[in-house]
Amino acid sequence: MGLLTDHYLRVQGVNDGSVYALGDCATIQQPKLIDQIEVLFTEADTEHRGALNLRQFQKLVQEKIADFPQLEMFSQSVEKAFIEADKEKSGHLTVATLRSILEKADKKIRALPATAQVAHQEGEYVAHLLNQTTNLQFNDHEQHDLQPFRYKHMGSLTYVGGNAAAIDFTDSKSVLNMFKLKSLSGRSVAYLWKSYYFTEMFTGRTKTLLIFDWIRVHLYGRDLSRY
Ligand SMILES: Cc1cc2nc3c(=O)[nH]c(=O)nc-3n(C[C@H](O)[C@H](O)[C@H](O)COP(=O)(O)OP(=O)(O)OC[C@H]3O[C@@H](n4cnc5c(N)ncnc54)[C@H](O)[C@@H]3O)c2cc1C
Repeated sequence: MGLLTDHYLRVQGVNDGSVYALGDCATIQQPKLIDQIEVLFTEADTEHRGALNLRQFQKLVQEKIADFPQLEMFSQSVEKAFIEADKEKSGHLTVATLRSILEKADKKIRALPATAQVAHQEGEYVAHLLNQTTNLQFNDHEQHDLQPFRYKHMGSLTYVGGNAAAIDFTDSKSVLNMFKLKSLSGRSVAYLWKSYYFTEMFTGRTKTLLIFDWIRVHLYGRDLSRY
């Protein structure tokens, strides 16, 4: 499980919020909507009618999305979610119908995968956050309107051996996904994978070492399998 953090990647249990965790060692704790349904409903029901209209439900989604990122699944289609839940076409949601919506959203809660892509985005996020905060003991990110961490899946690219790689943009938010590109695999993708790895090397030294590694493997095979 690693270190539990909040959405700003601050380690839970550190009162002054001065310790951050990111990458493989960190797990963002994601609160369930259903555990707080009564509070959420009462807060959204500003007219105390025991029912939420579409506008109130939209406001709930908009205001609570930072604390409950699983609400993002409705951000583009709040109206559709409302109509689907309001089966009796009453024009409002009760606690019971709201529950059915929130349960759907809670099912979307997933721990982020232990990948370099996640670690990289979290690293950039914490660097940006620290540049925005002047005091490291800063403990009130919410009040200063700082954005919580949001992972953007850019697709998966993996080497599968035998000079071949595979690429998949399913569920990615990248521009490429807009063109509905299908998954690809094979030798050409291996060159794409290698180009990406090469550009991710920080220094000329590691770039050079990587090129020599590839030449050595090409000539003599991998160390693990040949003697
Ligand atoms: C074989 C393998 C293949 C992978 N392939 C992919 C892939 O294709 N794509 C992908 O996205 N992800 C891949 N991953 C996962 C990816 O490597 C990790 O998710 C990513 O490196 C996590 O980054 P990190 O900074 O959290 O941890 P790390 O990269 O593990 O960095 C942690 C660093 O802390 C150092 N450290 C540990 N303990 C101490 C200590 N006590 N004091 C000081 N330093 C310490 C370690 O030496 C290490 O340098 C792969 C992982 C493995 C093992």
